Parts: sequence; structure tokens; C-alpha cells
Amino acid sequence: MLHIGCHLSCAKGYLAMGRQALALGADTFQFFTRNPRGGNAKPLDEADALALRDLMRERGFAPVIAHAPYTLNACAADPATRDFARRAMTEDVRRLSLLPGAMFNFHPGCHVGQGTRSGVALIAALLREVLEETEDTPILLETMAGKGTEIGGRFEELRDILDAAGGDARLGVCLDTCHVFDAGYDLAGDLQGVLDALERAVGLERLRAVHLNDSKNPRGSRKDRHARLGEGEIGVPALRRAVLHPALRALPFVLETPNEPEGYAREIAMARGWDEEDAHVG
Ligand code: FE
Ligand code: FE
Ligand code: ZN
Repeated sequence: MLHIGCHLSCAKGYLAMGRQALALGADTFQFFTRNPRGGNAKPLDEADALALRDLMRERGFAPVIAHAPYTLNACAADPATRDFARRAMTEDVRRLSLLPGAMFNFHPGCHVGQGTRSGVALIAALLREVLEETEDTPILLETMAGKGTEIGGRFEELRDILDAAGGDARLGVCLDTCHVFDAGYDLAGDLQGVLDALERAVGLERLRAVHLNDSKNPRGSRKDRHARLGEGEIGVPALRRAVLHPALRALPFVLETPNEPEGYAREIAMARGWDEEDAHVG
């Protein structure tokens, strides 16, 4: 069975997200660990997290993804900003240990003019510290569109971070279909070629999750504007191929499309339809 869900608001807590996911036909979901624009996390309601854990076990959820706030910049020029990133990441990763299989995903960072090489070194140094101070929870680097000074628009940049961080087995990659396409990879015309490039750079065993999004802009635009499935430049046939690809098929897929809950339910049903159709034919 395909594992698919969408990004949900964590405003009503953990258990509420689990229930909403089920109502949408999802068996996984993603949420922000704290306000996406930054700041402090709400105090952890442990009973609520454990209630979600029980629901996830009962209903056979796939691992969920906790997304770091966008303001978290592991390679900021200002040491105080990097220190915030390190503390926030450590705290958020620790909290996830309550949820079985939960993964922490973050945008590698923006080098803000220091250059990719310095950025990579700073991100790797921060990851080493977070890995040292936490246990078990996988930490995923998201593939980026390469907008502005974003690091992670090339698979080789992710490889350099992984290498410099010591290649810890807890480090993984989350493939965002919109970002990869916007970064210039031919996801619509040559999915296998894109996955081969990812395999050569980091190894497909590092791939732990997929952000399933269409893109408002053409390939290589570096704009990072998500579209609903089939309402962008990637299109349904290519997104369907991604969902059904043997290297991706077992991973949790998360929609980050501009949508309301009803729209997410439709997109989830659409992707489940591809999966079921294929299972019948194949
Ligand atoms: Fe993201
Ligand atoms: Fe994403
Ligand atoms: Zn994006």
C-alpha cells in the first residue's frame, strides 16, 4: 500500500493531526515542529504525543515527518543564529523520539554570500553536534530548488554535507519533486536519470521520504512555488511515475501543495488510485 499524507497544522496538537490524517485518507503526515517563521516551541504535551503514538500503532501509520521552521539556518553568517538553529534542532529531534519512526526534515540552509563551501562546512558541523546530542531519530536533508543562496539544489551539495558530517547512518535525504524540478533536474522527462544522479551522489539508501508537489514554474526556474498535482509544469504522468517507481514506492509521500483539507483528500485519493490501478495491472 502507498504511504501518503499531507502537511497539517499542529495548532490542535499531535492526536488531532493523527485523526485529521485518517479523515483525509492519509497514513502519514508532516507538521512544523514550531512556528515556521521561527521562535520558541510550545511546551511538549507528552500525553498528547503518546496518544498519537498509540493511534499510529493501532491504525498502521507510516513514519511521520517533522519539518524544521524555515527560519532555521544551519549555515547563517551570524553565530547566534546558528546557535539558535543548533538548539532548536536538538530540542525538536529529541521530542520526536516519542513517535515511532518519526523523521526530522530540514532545509540545509542559505549560505547568504559566504559561499557554498563554507555553508556546507557549517551545516555539517552543526549536524555533528545535533547527532551527538540526540538518539535514533533520522535527520533528513531536503533537496532544494536552489533559490537565492540555498544549499541543496545540487545532489552533490547534499553529498558534501553528508560526507563532512561523517556519513552517520541517521542522516538521510527527502526528495521534493517540485524543488528538484525547479533546480533543473528533468523529473518530468527522465525520472530514472534523476534517480541515477541521486544514487551516484548520495546512494538511494539515503532516500527516506518524498515531498510530492507539482511546480507552478518550468524546469530550472529556481522559484520554489508548489502547485497541486496536475496543476503545474510537472504534470500527472510524471508524478504518477514517481509514486510508482520501485525506488520510491515504499517511502512516505507527503503533499505540500497549496490546498484545503478537502483538496488534500482528493489528491491523496488520486495518488492511491494510481497505486491501486498499477497493482491490478502489474
Ligand atoms: Fe521543505
Ligand atoms: Fe518540501
Ligand atoms: Zn518548497
